[in-house]
Amino acid sequence: MLKMLVSEGDPEAKYTELETIGKGGFGTVCMAVETATGEEVAIKKISLLQESSSELCLNEIQVMCGTKNANLVNYVDSYLVDEELWLVMEYMDGGSLHDVIRETRMAEEEIAAVSRECLQGLDFLHSKQVIHRDIKSHNILLGLDGSVKLADFGLAAQLTAEQNKRRSAVGTTYWMAPEIFTRKPYGPKVDIWSFGIVGIEMVEGAPPYLMKTSRTVQQLISTGAPLKLQKPRQQSAWLRDFLHCCLERDEDRRWSAQELLQPEKACFRLWGK
Ligand code: ATP
Repeated sequence: MLKMLVSEGDPEAKYTELETIGKGGFGTVCMAVETATGEEVAIKKISLLQESSSELCLNEIQVMCGTKNANLVNYVDSYLVDEELWLVMEYMDGGSLHDVIRETRMAEEEIAAVSRECLQGLDFLHSKQVIHRDIKSHNILLGLDGSVKLADFGLAAQLTAEQNKRRSAVGTTYWMAPEIFTRKPYGPKVDIWSFGIVGIEMVEGAPPYLMKTSRTVQQLISTGAPLKLQKPRQQSAWLRDFLHCCLERDEDRRWSAQELLQPEKACFRLWGK
């Protein structure tokens, strides 16, 4: 299946590698230029030797190919090179939101601007019945031109008319919604919960309970431990309201990306800042 999806040819002849940007759980990412055009790209090299990585790659290519949007990192091409899949995508020259959060404290205006872009990306994905399932600051990439895009679609799930909910427990613990831990069938709103956690990261620099073990966090979130800002009074009522709408435990009452973007909603005032 992977062989059918990837391009033929030698990517090493087409692209000139410049530097390694980082290492992820499944391989390395490097920055390169297309030799003929000088266009910058990022190449994610995923080892296919690890169990389950072929499935994740297949998933990532299928989702990236079918979803083109200004708030999603665009797919360029893919190749099989020895025991690796090379996923060529647009290069985001501003690094990840995680890098920004580690270095500085964001102003509320910046939090609002990043949130709106991410919600537009989520609204688009959800309109295509795709759940990202791994929204966290590491997977939100920035461009120096101000662009904000969602990345890393390895864990994404495509819903269908026959299967409009999912059950498998995937994601990164600190960002995972309560319905995933309690093994209920879940839908796209798990991404909204995760984005609420990203909201807390943008304010405080880290997700809640980061110092606790993954098992303890799972217990805390499943049993309804509060997810609040440590110093809520330092933020505007709009931002608090926005986080509250994302971190609603009841999936039915939690807002959708589309609702959060609606001008008539109170927290929309945040976007106008
Ligand atoms: P994991 O594989 O566990 O999800 P991760 O998200 O850190 O971890 P990758 O998605 O492989 O791993 O990314 C590794 C590094 O490469 C990160 O620092 C990420 O910011 C950077 N990166 C990934 N894609 C791009 C891109 N298109 N443009 C610029 N940098 C990128």
